[in-house]
Amino acid sequence: ILEINNLQTSFFTEEVEVKAVDGVSFSLPKGKTLGIVGESGSGKSITSLSILRLIDSPGKIVGGEIIFKGENLLEKSNNEMRKIRGNEISMIFQEPMTSLNPTYTIGQQISEAYKIHERLNKAEARKKSIEMLKLVGIPSPEKRINQYPHELSGGMRQRVMIAIALACNPDLLIADEPTTALDVTIQAQILELIKDLQKRLNMSVLLITHDLGVVAETCDYVAVMYCGKVVEYADVKTLFKEPKHPYTVGLINSLP
Ligand code: ATP
Ligand code: MG
Repeated sequence: ILEINNLQTSFFTEEVEVKAVDGVSFSLPKGKTLGIVGESGSGKSITSLSILRLIDSPGKIVGGEIIFKGENLLEKSNNEMRKIRGNEISMIFQEPMTSLNPTYTIGQQISEAYKIHERLNKAEARKKSIEMLKLVGIPSPEKRINQYPHELSGGMRQRVMIAIALACNPDLLIADEPTTALDVTIQAQILELIKDLQKRLNMSVLLITHDLGVVAETCDYVAVMYCGKVVEYADVKTLFKEPKHPYTVGLINSLP
């Protein structure tokens, strides 16, 4: 569903070019999960933001192709990209508090997604929102939809973010370190939830993490990034059996 060929993204400050992503290639088949691992600053987030074309100045995509459902996203107009972000590709970020709007209730925020994407009326959108909150494991959703983000725990907010991301029924879900801000038991639950939803909805998922253990449990394929490059791309079994790059070998050896 997604194929990235030789993607290059640079930041330009005072005429100096710094390559953040330097020739990244990988592909994600439909209905599968691809993990991107790599240390801090290796270019994982910049890669995902490039797919959504959300890189702002001084950053710029300077080369390559991003083929999504057969079409190069780098050739789309801004308007077309806005539609794709709203309907076909959803993204969840590391810290849900920055993505949820503190001045609207949970119910208002999910309903909004349904009203826009499925042209539902208020009552229908409310009903769908409650169903979606149930699906992502929020207890007594009838009560929760009237609450504001700050009234929920971090783990619940992350579930709400997932609910909003899923409300537009995306073909591709990009999750950039969706659990880093959460405690370990909640982390495991959220990852389990993403895995379960991926299977149930036959979504394709791009999961960014710095934890290779998470990749082993959740992903079909993995791309290892190091200094802006993909140094290894393989299916997960092969990666663990025959790691090629020293960085990957180090990662595997450091697993508990
Ligand atoms: P982390 O695991 O910490 O989230 P990451 O792999 O997601 O790291 P990126 O956020 O993709 O890393 O950053 C890749 C590189 O791009 C880094 O070297 C970073 O310094 C650079 N970079 C990111 N944003 C900017 C910016 N606004 N201006 C200049 N350089 C930037
Ligand atoms: Mg990042």
